[in-house]
Amino acid sequence: MGLIVGLEEKLPSGFLLTTVEKLAGYMRKNSLWPATCGLACCAIETMAAGAGRYDLARFGMEVFRASPRQADLMIVAGRVSNKMAPVVRQIYDQMAAPKWTIAMGACASSGGMFNNYAIVQGVDHIIPVDIYLPGCPPRPEMLMDAILKLHEQIGNEKLGPNREKIIKEVEAAALAAKPNHQLKGLLT
Ligand code: SF4
Repeated sequence: MGLIVGLEEKLPSGFLLTTVEKLAGYMRKNSLWPATCGLACCAIETMAAGAGRYDLARFGMEVFRASPRQADLMIVAGRVSNKMAPVVRQIYDQMAAPKWTIAMGACASSGGMFNNYAIVQGVDHIIPVDIYLPGCPPRPEMLMDAILKLHEQIGNEKLGPNREKIIKEVEAAALAAKPNHQLKGLLT
C-alpha cells in the first residue's frame, strides 16, 4: 500500500496509468481492513456480519483492527453523539491512507430519529463518507452489499492526473448546483 501511495506522485499518463490504476484498485479493494468502530445498536449487526453465519471473511476482510493505524475502512455503526465526534475524527485521522468510510444505518447517515442537540446529524459533518447505508438497523446482508459496492468504487478509482481531473469536475458541479434553500423537492 505504501509503495502505491509513493508511486502516485510519479505516475505517467495514458495507457500505463490505466494499467497501474486497475492493478492498484484490484489490490486495494481486496485488502480492506475495517477499524473497530461500533457506536450503538447497528454495531450488533456489524458483529453478526463478521460471525460464522454471514462470514465476512469471504471477502478477505474479517480482521477488524483494534488499531486505526492498521485499518483503511471505517464502518460507522450507530449514532454519533457530540461527545464521541472528536474521537471518531481522531480515529479516522489515524487510519492509513487511502481510506474509505461507510455510514451504517439511518443514525450515522443522517442522525436518524435522534433529531436533537446531543447527536451529530450525519457523520459526514465530521468525516468524508463514501457509502450511505439506509436502515434501522441495516441487516448484515445490506452491510455486505454496501461493502461490495465500495469494492466496485475502489476498483474503478482514478489516480494521478485522472483523479485531479475528476476532482475538478466534481468541484465545478458542486459550485454550479442550486443552494439547498432554493430546492423545492418534487415541486420544482
Ligand atoms: S439506525 Fe437504528 S439500529 Fe442503527 S444506531 Fe440508529 S437506532 Fe440503532
